[in-house]
Amino acid sequence: MVKIYIDPGHGGTDPGAIGNGLKEKDVTLAIATRVRNILVNEYSNATVRMSRTGDQTVSLSQRTNDANAWGAAFYLSIHINAGGGNGYEDYIHSNLSDSSTTAQLRNTIHSEIVKLIDMPNRGKKKADFHVLRETRMHAMLTENGFIDYASNASLMKTSAWLDKAARGHVNGLEKALGLQKTSSPPPSGSTLYRVVAGSFTSRANADQRVAELQAKGFDSFIDIYTQGGVTYYRVIAGSFADKSNADKQVADLKAAGFDAFIITVSS
Ligand SMILES: [Zn+2]
Repeated sequence: MVKIYIDPGHGGTDPGAIGNGLKEKDVTLAIATRVRNILVNEYSNATVRMSRTGDQTVSLSQRTNDANAWGAAFYLSIHINAGGGNGYEDYIHSNLSDSSTTAQLRNTIHSEIVKLIDMPNRGKKKADFHVLRETRMHAMLTENGFIDYASNASLMKTSAWLDKAARGHVNGLEKALGLQKTSSPPPSGSTLYRVVAGSFTSRANADQRVAELQAKGFDSFIDIYTQGGVTYYRVIAGSFADKSNADKQVADLKAAGFDAFIITVSS
């Protein structure tokens, strides 16, 4: 399994950059959550850990210590730029040579992101950022447009662009790290068995459950849906084409002390 650490920039009391009615912390989380969901749902050899899954305050040291302790193979920090500019750019640490493995991985990821990001390409850069310097694994930081530039910000307000930005990151990770697509993707019109490990009307409670699951080694993500005017935060701990695999996941979750049940969705 390839351990990928996804770091949505800022959060909690630190909004990051602000502009055009947007806060950087919300946009970074929206992209990062999509990256995580795609990796968990579509790849068989990727394990994901996130520095935050909700609007929590997490220091830079907490982020890099967590990734180092987990033993991540790759650290991907997702940010939004500000300060007068237009477009996408990314960073590796300033001490790294252009022939380093990290630089080669970044080249691959960069070219996949710029194919989908729908913004000018400002290039491949280097900087002495904390998350690039204090991580022991390959690390890269992406700056996905300028929140204070109207046309960039208007893209950030659409889920279509957030999806494309996330897909660009995932396509890059796939090529750079040799990620394998789940062997038999379900044909369209077929049934998927999703394992629900908790359904909450409070986002904070759902975040708490994701953290508890992560502590016991279960990857999960939050699926938001509305029924009868009520918004539910459903914690999804796996999606399977084969019901017996979903049954096994439910059994594993119950053995670890979590309630879990299966819902079917058509793909
Ligand atoms: Zn930032």
